[in-house]
Amino acid sequence: MATRNIILLGPPGAGKGTHAERLVADYGLVHLSTGNILREAVAAGTELGTQAKTYMDAGQLVPDELVIGIVRERLAEDDIQQHGALLDGFPRTLAQAEALEGVMEQLKLTNLVVINLSVRDEVLIRRLSGRRMCESCGGIFNVYRDGVETGQSCPSCGKGELYQRSDDREEAIAQRLVTYREKSAPLIEYYAQRGLLIDVDGNDAEDPVYQRMTANLD
Ligand code: AMP
Repeated sequence: MATRNIILLGPPGAGKGTHAERLVADYGLVHLSTGNILREAVAAGTELGTQAKTYMDAGQLVPDELVIGIVRERLAEDDIQQHGALLDGFPRTLAQAEALEGVMEQLKLTNLVVINLSVRDEVLIRRLSGRRMCESCGGIFNVYRDGVETGQSCPSCGKGELYQRSDDREEAIAQRLVTYREKSAPLIEYYAQRGLLIDVDGNDAEDPVYQRMTANLD
């Protein structure tokens, strides 16, 4: 069977990271999260990380050239050629979507499906402000849903401590939602016009949303 490639679209807090983890496990895809790659670069203090950090902390998008370069390199690797990619957090601008189309054509990556998670603003704000992540395994938890707190050890791997992402603080959340509406929301129409879009209501809890998503994919 030809490999499948999936793009997960949706505002910050829509559940892209959470559902991406399940989709890669269930469909054998390779997870490509530009946000994770950028956070790792910031933590490692690389040149890329230094360039990206100011934008990320302010809730703004990192310049297209930087992010497109990362994705172009990663998509060319063997594992994605063999198993297909799950793109989480990319593309986020029309320029990125157009660049991606060219790269996928060059690399002969076909069979693309785009899933858009639609979630109301008040739900997004609650999820983002309550989100805590594990510094070791990257696990995602929520203060309101899971009763966790900053600094406790990870309920999943037990190794790392839970922390709050610097861009999950109140000022950055508001900016990220504005940036999403301006720059990323037009991608919904872009992919709908190409007949590639599956729209999924992402307001509910994780399991029913995931079931809706996979029912559409299968
Ligand atoms: P995420 O983990 O996907 O929410 O991304 C966290 C932050 O990384 C975003 O708020 C942006 O600053 C940056 N980022 C991630 N992906 C992209 C992208 N495709 N284009 C530009 N900036 C990005």
